[in-house]
Amino acid sequence: MKFRITALVEDTAGGRGLLAEHGLSFWIELGSRKILFDTGQGHVLTRNARQLGVHLEQAEAVIISHGHYDHTGGLSETLRLAGQRRVYAHPAALAPKYARNTDGSSKEIGIPLLNEQKIREQADLILTEKPVEIGEGLFLTGPVPRRTDFEDVGGQYFTDPDCLRPDALSDDQSAFIETPAGTVVILGCAHAGVINTLNYIRELTGNRRIHTVLGGMHLLAAGPERMHKTVAGLRRIDVKRLIPCHCTGFAAMARLWHEFPDQCALCHVGTVFDWNE
Ligand SMILES: [Zn+2]
Ligand SMILES: [Zn+2]
Repeated sequence: MKFRITALVEDTAGGRGLLAEHGLSFWIELGSRKILFDTGQGHVLTRNARQLGVHLEQAEAVIISHGHYDHTGGLSETLRLAGQRRVYAHPAALAPKYARNTDGSSKEIGIPLLNEQKIREQADLILTEKPVEIGEGLFLTGPVPRRTDFEDVGGQYFTDPDCLRPDALSDDQSAFIETPAGTVVILGCAHAGVINTLNYIRELTGNRRIHTVLGGMHLLAAGPERMHKTVAGLRRIDVKRLIPCHCTGFAAMARLWHEFPDQCALCHVGTVFDWNE
């Protein structure tokens, strides 16, 4: 099986003319399909795509992992370029989202410029309330059951501007590709928890082994217990290749590198993963 994943947006960049921003976007080329997974904040997506020879207008579908601005900010520009395409998102991704500033005031952190109606005017919106196959072995988890006792959404998120109603981030979903060598998992922020996500994908795939995990693990605020149990979980799941990036956080990345020195790899804007197994 052959496919290629190119990092278009990430918090770090590695190459001439490429720009970083806090956000995430991957370009997935799978057979004849070209699919955009998340869109970053929107400041660098089109520029990086051009630099990397990626034609966003060829995207046949856009996957939204969850509604935070750092994954959805480039969606309006992508839809303008690509025209009437499929957009996969959980309904909660389209609802307003908030976080608290350090001074106690609140800020809007949901999807910029768009709402459900505006997306429907420009795209075929597919609401992912359960797992869905996009094609050629590429799947979306839909909402991930929260079963571990040590994982939470990873921060103070709310659905109202007064920051009274906690946001469970039920929109959080991941993509995965089934290959003969094992499953390749693509995370947005894994607000559902990376271990919850991997356990669920194993369940969905009849316990198929997980080969590679790529993306944000949102362990920025993880305390010692969560880190310890996350490491133990990854060891138990026996992941062959770990490519933590974006919101995983520096301390958590360092810990993962220390625990899994032979499995870890870097990802920044411009990184290309060619799969041939
Ligand atoms: Zn997020
Ligand atoms: Zn994020």
